[in-house]
Amino acid sequence: MEEKIFFVIAIILFSSFILVILGLSAGLFLYTFRNIKATIKGNSSSMGPCRSCGNPVSKTAIICPNCGDNFGNINVVANSIIGSFLAGIVALACGLLLILGLIEFIRD
Ligand SMILES: [Zn+2]
Repeated sequence: MEEKIFFVIAIILFSSFILVILGLSAGLFLYTFRNIKATIKGNSSSMGPCRSCGNPVSKTAIICPNCGDNFGNINVVANSIIGSFLAGIVALACGLLLILGLIEFIRD
């Protein structure tokens, strides 16, 4: 009886841990998506005039939404996109491995 309670508690703890990892993964993917959106449109909080057409454009934008001029700062932003995306993949893989581990644990 006592063993069964420990087994249930272990599964609950394990499951909540998996949920946290998967939630972290989802958050990282959301962060990646927001990064991509911010990269294309730029962060609206810091606007400055475009050096080509003079229209207001975000200082973090890669391309001007008006004239399409490339500001050439893609590497910094792209690295954070790839970084958050890879972290999301790793968290998702960890979550899936833990789920497989949990299934094995229940089977035994
Ligand atoms: Zn422009």
